[in-house]
Amino acid sequence: MEFCVDTDKNNSWYIGTKDYDSKMINKIETIMFQGNGYVGMRGVTEEPQLNEKRDMFVSGTFDAFPSEVTELPNLPDLLNMVFQIDGKTLNLKDGQVKGYHKYLNMKNGELTREFTWVIDHKQVNFKFSRFVSMDNYHLLVSKVSISSDKNINLKIKSGIDGQQSNSGTQHLMEGSKRFYEGKFIQLTEKSQQSKVEFVFNSMHKLFVNEVLLNNKPYIKMGRRQIFENYDIDLAAGQVFQIVKYSNIFTSIDTDVKDDDLAEASVNGLKKSSWANYHELLQKSARAWEKKVWKKSFVEIKSDDVTPQVAINFARYQLAANTPHSPNMNIGAKGLTGEGYKGHTFWDTEIFMLPYFIFTMPKIARNLLEYRYLGLEGAHKKAIRNGYRGAEFPWEAANPSDGETAPLWGSADIVTGEPMKVWSGFIEQHITGDVVYAVMEYLNATNDRDFAKKMGYEIILDAAKFWVSRLEYDQDHERYEITNVIGPDEYKEHADNNAYTNYLAHWCIQKAIQVVNILKEDHPDLYVILDKKLDLAEAYNDWISRVNKIYLPQPNKQRVIPQDDKYLSKKKIDVTKYQINDQISEIFKDYNLDQVNNLQVTKQADVMLLINLFDDYFDKDVKLANWNYYEPKTTHESSLSMPPHSMIANELGLDDQAYKFYRWTCETDMGIHVGKSVQGMHLASCGGIWSMTVQGFGGVRISNGKLRIDPHLPKAWSSLKYRICWHGSIVKVSITHDEMEVEVVGDGIEFINNGEEYQVPDNSKIEVDDFVPEKIKR
Ligand code: BGC
Ligand code: BGC
Repeated sequence: MEFCVDTDKNNSWYIGTKDYDSKMINKIETIMFQGNGYVGMRGVTEEPQLNEKRDMFVSGTFDAFPSEVTELPNLPDLLNMVFQIDGKTLNLKDGQVKGYHKYLNMKNGELTREFTWVIDHKQVNFKFSRFVSMDNYHLLVSKVSISSDKNINLKIKSGIDGQQSNSGTQHLMEGSKRFYEGKFIQLTEKSQQSKVEFVFNSMHKLFVNEVLLNNKPYIKMGRRQIFENYDIDLAAGQVFQIVKYSNIFTSIDTDVKDDDLAEASVNGLKKSSWANYHELLQKSARAWEKKVWKKSFVEIKSDDVTPQVAINFARYQLAANTPHSPNMNIGAKGLTGEGYKGHTFWDTEIFMLPYFIFTMPKIARNLLEYRYLGLEGAHKKAIRNGYRGAEFPWEAANPSDGETAPLWGSADIVTGEPMKVWSGFIEQHITGDVVYAVMEYLNATNDRDFAKKMGYEIILDAAKFWVSRLEYDQDHERYEITNVIGPDEYKEHADNNAYTNYLAHWCIQKAIQVVNILKEDHPDLYVILDKKLDLAEAYNDWISRVNKIYLPQPNKQRVIPQDDKYLSKKKIDVTKYQINDQISEIFKDYNLDQVNNLQVTKQADVMLLINLFDDYFDKDVKLANWNYYEPKTTHESSLSMPPHSMIANELGLDDQAYKFYRWTCETDMGIHVGKSVQGMHLASCGGIWSMTVQGFGGVRISNGKLRIDPHLPKAWSSLKYRICWHGSIVKVSITHDEMEVEVVGDGIEFINNGEEYQVPDNSKIEVDDFVPEKIKR
């Protein structure tokens, strides 16, 4: 695989670059992102740089600027440090740079940058290190070591810089600036519309040759700024160190009880700063190990280290971007950039949740609880659009907000007019995607408590929406769903998008089953939900309509029509749009109206249907649809590649399976300059795990049962992974001809190659006659 960063064949946790003059500056900032799910910051340099994108966000702190949709405010910068060496400000564009090396240790989350700056015949060595603590979510620590071959005077300015914006939009109003006990600086701010209060604190410790200095800083305050200034004379060969401890608290934090945030946060920083950088890093590293690496263990044996780097990277980014409260969810770009404004899409349910469901079910539950809390917003949306039940938002921020998709996008290249964003109105499959994720979670965990408290209600409420959404077509005597956007966003106002229709039908079927379960097993809960949702009436609607919903069937060529008109549209050659540096390349040649009339697909649509409902279609249908749709798909969205890899793997199209796997791994880490500038593609991180464990590793849920039908790429000699199933830990080891399944906890059953296997409590079995080629495909 070709990455824009270097890898190390002996250390799959390393990504680095020795090229400081990189054209990739914004991309490197994105992929060297650091975070802990509460706070996240891009991998920018401490000293401000031209063309940087300096962003730091705290999950869930949305604010709406007048006439704009709500977004995560870019917070005051706690990283900044400006250094002067004998009056010359450190800037790598000046002087000469030797031995530059910037690298991220994904295992403990530490980012390091080192180089020698040659200026006025002095060689000054710098080493910057920093981390965001996975142990104490509010804490960020950085350390800079400086030494020189000549005596130097060193001036340092470091503090809290609130002059940040979201590409010009200022969300935060200044509160107070304080200096406590000659050591702690503090800035408080408040978001202008949502009134979230923020407190930022920093303090510094200075050392020469590891001896703590007692220098008092000179404090300077400006508009939304507070800085400490130090002046140090450093002799040749001495090592100077500055350690900056900072923390952040907000009024929506659920882990802090204190009313006086300003005081409590300073006390918190006092306590943290008793420990040194190394001790705090160790604590954070232990938290990474316990919370992330152990639970999501995956080991790929191959001559090439990049597949293991990719899975480490994917798990790193997911952990660094997943909030800890059910009031918040993962944004399509997490906390890694301003793209999509921190909003959550179906990316979570369909592309990221499989990872959490199978490795960290508690987090999966939180992410689904967010949708439960979002029912209020979903009701608002349904009512506004003239429907009943819960219509989940295409783009979501605070759960009660309902729809937060913007109304207008960029200008049409033909008419010059701004284009309306229709997704927030008619990209309705999200309501089925949420139910799909709820069912996958329930099947994998058997979490009855969640089902009763939240899961059943989500399913029922969503089915109420779908039944109100159906339109009766007299001529065909069937229910249809017209005027939608399916997963393929190039087709706006499509009628009977297959993906949407199948999903709606399936949701209603699930709701009918839920009512039957409730009546039988939980009559009290049935009464409660009946009062809330009018179940008796809804049930009648479901029963009378479900079998009349139009499900587009494979035609004579076995192709499932993506929608009513797709197959009759004009065909063009899309190869030139398939591999591209920049996204939206097709819109340089056509406007959206024109693309609407072509057989061109943005991303997996029918292919996704086949991937999610893989029991519905036989191998011939799968292959026919692959052959039909893949060549017409630009894969402009990174959500396209993982389902393609998984289906290709199942069909034995090994080269294709690996090609789409590689492309996904290269989405953020690859060499394309244009991608990832606005932030990571977190769905593609989920996709990397899914292609690895669900695709090549073969883990699927079929009719509620666990199926493990692996088929490894030729380039891999073995794959080991750990998943959870019904509360037990399942460790799977696979080679090209052997599979071992070990269970820690209660025994489990699984299906391989059409046969059922049982693993007793706390034991392991081998599937001896495991011949991948025999897999029933
Ligand atoms: C995406 C839509 C999204 C819109 C506005 C488009 O690029 O494809 O899914 O709703 O941006 O955020
Ligand atoms: C894709 C959507 C996706 C969104 C956010 C769009 O480009 O078409 O499917 O949800 O990006 O990742």
